[in-house]
Amino acid sequence: MSEVTVENVTAIEATLNGVDRALERLRLGTYRTCAECSAEIDEVDLVGDALLAHCRDHRELR
Ligand SMILES: [Zn+2]
Repeated sequence: MSEVTVENVTAIEATLNGVDRALERLRLGTYRTCAECSAEIDEVDLVGDALLAHCRDHRELR
């Protein structure tokens, strides 16, 4: 059994926030497009991380 730490909770919250944003973007029809420049995000990248909100050029701003 692993102990729940503040770090665990913070990581879980960050993941949930990412899911919330992805769902909102699905509703708005902007899922798969960069939040910065509206370029389409590569499907290959979304397979790696379904919560990506930025294209490769803007990913470091996440
Ligand atoms: Zn972009």
